Amino acid sequence: MPAKIIDGRPVAQRIQGEIKRAVEDLRAKSGAAPGLGVVLVGDDPASAMYVRMKRRACDRAGLRSEARILPAASTQAEVEDAVRAYNADPSIHGILVQLPLPDHINEEAVLNEISLAKDVDGIHPMNLGRLGMRGREPTFTPATPTGVMQLIAETGEAIEGLRAVVIGRSNIVGLPVALMLAKANATVTICHSRTRDLPGTVRAADIVVAAVGRAEYVKGDWIKPGAIVIDVGSNSLPDPDSEKGYRYVGDVEFESACAVAGYITKVPGGVGPMTITMLLSNTLKAARRSLEA
Ligand code: NAP
Repeated sequence: MPAKIIDGRPVAQRIQGEIKRAVEDLRAKSGAAPGLGVVLVGDDPASAMYVRMKRRACDRAGLRSEARILPAASTQAEVEDAVRAYNADPSIHGILVQLPLPDHINEEAVLNEISLAKDVDGIHPMNLGRLGMRGREPTFTPATPTGVMQLIAETGEAIEGLRAVVIGRSNIVGLPVALMLAKANATVTICHSRTRDLPGTVRAADIVVAAVGRAEYVKGDWIKPGAIVIDVGSNSLPDPDSEKGYRYVGDVEFESACAVAGYITKVPGGVGPMTITMLLSNTLKAARRSLEA
């Protein structure tokens, strides 16, 4: 039997509807809307597109958003100043620094500047550290990994005791997903470019999270029958049949994996819609803490 599809779109729509109602409530009580401040450095078209998508989603849900768009040649001090200005602005409750930053900018120093109370991307080293520590809770968890966990929850399967394999160990996806799965009491293996026998390791997993950045890399015969497969990958492949000339595929070979898995996400329409939703949710949470205090 083919896998059940975990469709991120209706889940995202449902949660965005809840956020919209909560924002209206907050406005009625406090007279203010949650505000997101975005720092974008340079003119990378993909980053600019992500920022536009995030700001549009804010509009739809009734959140206020603004962006400080700095030239690629900005200095370290200018980028850090942009973050500090949002820290000091009471109408901004959440700050998003769109990554990657240009090579000459020290990313960690910039992220360190974000006020913990406004770190709605959950990317401040203190928040990531707390995510990994026993008995500590981060102020916010990063958007994409939180979306992954929400999609796993949609299956109704209990995570505790399951074997999870996360392929990828980036600071924004692989590592935090692995930490969140471990917090949920899964037994977690983190795989990366130096992992020996990746297919054999994946075959033991009840939960597979693929965050590799390589089109259709994970094959169906790597998947344990019945496993939950969450495909974070977003890769464009040339496609002369499509209007745009390309199409998006995940890190998992969907057709072959779908035949074996118990549950699987699609690309597009899986993790992608959840990422923005979780950013909105964190910004609402930050605004509530500030406005209802
Ligand atoms: P990244 O920073 O490039 O990290 C990729 C990870 O995959 C690294 O840890 C790397 O290992 C590992 N890797 C590379 N080749 C491998 C191989 N052959 N075998 C095993 N592991 C390998 O990427 P990322 O930012 O985490 O993003 C991963 C994917 O998710 C991308 O497709 C990205 O577009 C997508 N993404 C989607 C969303 C969304 O909202 N849908 C959000 C963020 C990212 P090393 O550490 O050893 O180099």
